[in-house]
Amino acid sequence: MAQIELDHIRHAYGPAPKSDADFALKEVHHTFRDGGAYALLGPSGCGKTTLLNIISGLLHASEGRLLFDGQDVSRLSTQERNIAQVFQFPVVYDTMTVYDNLAFPLRNRGIAEPDVDRKVREILEMIDLGDWAKRKARGLTADQKQKISLGRGLVRSDVNAILFDEPLTVIDPHMKWVLRSQLKQLHRRFGHTMVYVTHDQTEALTFADDVVVMYEGEVVQIGTPDELFARPRHTFVGYFIGSPGMNVLPVSVEGARAKFGDAWIDLPDRPRGPMGGAIELGIRPEFVQLGRHDGMPAEIVKVEDIGRHKIVRAKLQDHAISAILREDEEVPSEPRVRFAPEAINIYAGSWRVDYETEGEGVSA
Ligand code: ATP
Repeated sequence: MAQIELDHIRHAYGPAPKSDADFALKEVHHTFRDGGAYALLGPSGCGKTTLLNIISGLLHASEGRLLFDGQDVSRLSTQERNIAQVFQFPVVYDTMTVYDNLAFPLRNRGIAEPDVDRKVREILEMIDLGDWAKRKARGLTADQKQKISLGRGLVRSDVNAILFDEPLTVIDPHMKWVLRSQLKQLHRRFGHTMVYVTHDQTEALTFADDVVVMYEGEVVQIGTPDELFARPRHTFVGYFIGSPGMNVLPVSVEGARAKFGDAWIDLPDRPRGPMGGAIELGIRPEFVQLGRHDGMPAEIVKVEDIGRHKIVRAKLQDHAISAILREDEEVPSEPRVRFAPEAINIYAGSWRVDYETEGEGVSA
């Protein structure tokens, strides 16, 4: 397994790119640690597949370097990079048995047959195809074929990394959950460096230790699911992660208070200035409280009952806002809205501003 270093990577598909808009990847400069499980998450067209293909060698970046364990592999082919890949659609040899499909990458590398057998049986057990070992791959369901593809990705222990490009697209919803859990277990057991592309936040948050959120050709945040939830670095992360996403409201800030319309909202601390661009307040629906007395008057627009909790859509000084309430919580007919101060984030030009007592240069 290897540490993967993306050293000032930029990529343009067209010739002679001039402005940032010509680059599918604007600048990616990050390190994926050896043995980490990363998900590349973002909407269609944000550059996830481009980045994955640069790591695998299917694409060569226009600028920057790619290093595996400190060694520059930018100009090496996929094969020379020693990478396993699992694509959106199953890649299996229909005329071979399930067993031989898994054994193929090992035999190809001259591994001794007893070792091939041990490894193939272990993986077959994990992907739950032990009873199908002697069957030809032809005639299996799409789920089963994709499990073979996953198995082929996992069978070699000498790879530098395993890359997955939306591997569960063809899998039915129940199996998705099962396979995701199995992948997570395999990761814990073997410690492969894994990079997994998806546009589905549930898939990313359940699979990865670290989620790499991408937006318009840039990595906007790398964080654990908890970090992305509590401290989205960019308003896009707040909006994209969570259901519904973070509420974002225009404010001005004075000291440790924000002014929203004619209301003052307490912040946990003073944001660290100076702040350029539009100033906004972000609060997740989970931390919007609806009471009868204190707070800003709001108007209920709709209540969606979705089982364990309900989503309240309301209007607050002409701005739409969402709140998540427990199933048994009452929705007041003339609610007053308060925000839990410690859950408030302040943004300037869409980027989060640290509070004075956090981050680097903590003031005494
Ligand atoms: P999706 O989830 O839809 O696959 P993505 O996040 O993986 O999206 P990419 O496929 O990496 O995004 O595409 C990033 C940008 O690069 C998009 O604007 C896309 O149109 C462009 N692009 C991708 N492949 C090519 C190509 N072969 N030639 C030209 N432009 C491309």
